Amino acid sequence: MGIATINPATGETLKTFDPLTDAEIETKLAVAKRAFEQYRQTPLRQRSAWMNEAARILQENKEQFGKLMTQEMGKPLKAAHAETEKCALVCRYYAEHAAEFLADVPASTDASQSFVRYQPMGPILAVMPWNFPFWQVFRFAAPALMAGNVGLLKHASNVPQCAVKIEEIFRQAGFPEGAFQTLLVGADKVAAIVADDRVMAATLTGSEGAGISLASTAGKHLKKTVLELGGSDPFIVLESADLEAAVSTAVAARMLNNGQSCIAAKRFIVVDAIADSFAQRLVEKFQALKIGDPMHPDTDLGPLATPGMLKDLDDLVQECIARGSKVLTGGKPLTDRPGNYYPPTILTDFPPGTPAESEEFFGPVALLFRVANIDEAIARANNIPYGLGASAWTNVEEERDRLINELEAGAVFINGMVKSDPRLPFGGIKRSGYGRELGIQGIHEFVNIKTVWVK
Ligand code: NAP
Repeated sequence: MGIATINPATGETLKTFDPLTDAEIETKLAVAKRAFEQYRQTPLRQRSAWMNEAARILQENKEQFGKLMTQEMGKPLKAAHAETEKCALVCRYYAEHAAEFLADVPASTDASQSFVRYQPMGPILAVMPWNFPFWQVFRFAAPALMAGNVGLLKHASNVPQCAVKIEEIFRQAGFPEGAFQTLLVGADKVAAIVADDRVMAATLTGSEGAGISLASTAGKHLKKTVLELGGSDPFIVLESADLEAAVSTAVAARMLNNGQSCIAAKRFIVVDAIADSFAQRLVEKFQALKIGDPMHPDTDLGPLATPGMLKDLDDLVQECIARGSKVLTGGKPLTDRPGNYYPPTILTDFPPGTPAESEEFFGPVALLFRVANIDEAIARANNIPYGLGASAWTNVEEERDRLINELEAGAVFINGMVKSDPRLPFGGIKRSGYGRELGIQGIHEFVNIKTVWVK
């Protein structure tokens, strides 16, 4: 697939782009390097003003930017508007807090004066996915630019217009030329860009394979990476939980972004005592969702982003069924219309060896596991190669403490849905990646933590 906008709701190719030539990539890297030398000297107050202006542009144009996202990757328009607003929020958050996060940190030692100073690293490459085409980029760019780095974006090949628009937003906000550049290139160019001496570090949000590939190259060239990869997050419901709240949240947590979110709840682990009731309510709520044109304001569930995503998801579902899993609702693509539509689906009963134990179902498919008690729930939740976010529902304090301590995940949310928030660090463990975005931890990923000691 080339670099193109293909409407997932219709299959129509709307716009194609030529990838940058090697000479054009070279020019952009040279611009980034030059821009960094100037940009790193800009006062924080100035960077904050530009970042706040970027927030204003996002807020004022949320209709236009939302439409662009929906057209390129199919998320419901209302979710695309919310995404634009969240981008404005992260810009404002770092505009306001960067000075505090980057201030010198004094230390008492044998020196007359010793402290830690945070300094920018240089051009940072961001390889980003299509599922939150604005948010993923802004949650990297806001802290990175506030810290004085410059950004190079290699966005997913199916969201080129979003990629171009984001560069435009930063330029329009006043950031100097070269502070943030989009590179319209395919994945085949990433290794050479990471290897280039002018690129100091890289971050990738996407699949495990892409993460391994980028980190291998970066490792060879001794460059730091942050990886935000896939997940198969658990959603545990214990007997004392508020069942109605849990079921309603389960629907939102699974269907967010047409089911294509790394932190979507994917495995629903419910104790026997309430499993039937949970399953019945979940089926009812899944069946009530409005599937259709993502541009329509009432649509709950739009198409998957590409025909390939649809096929990958359906292959996993069919493999579970072939091995003996039961379908409670949904279970095959909607072929009565154009576009990449998959219905809300619930699978249950997983004999050993189904992909439900090892794979990420990246679409509107809930995997329902029944367990006897909290011990089994925790064991089942942790029995997966991933560890991004976990949601767990209980009103018993000792259970809550055990879930917080024992769940293997980068985040645990009790009685709520896993979500990212600029004020809290975000990231995974195990095969979900490493490093953190957002919060104070996020801005410290791409800085030189310089130790200063004065006799
Ligand atoms: P993907 O295929 O890995 O693509 C993500 C980005 O990586 C794209 O820009 C892609 O470029 C590039 N890429 C692909 N293969 C590469 C390689 N070998 N070397 C360097 N770059 C490469 O992922 P996706 O299918 O679009 O996205 C879904 C995945 O992302 C899911 O697993 C999801 O859970 C994960 N995700 C994680 C987070 C998180 O925060 N942890 C957030 C969102 C999504 P092209 O488009 O040109 O191929």
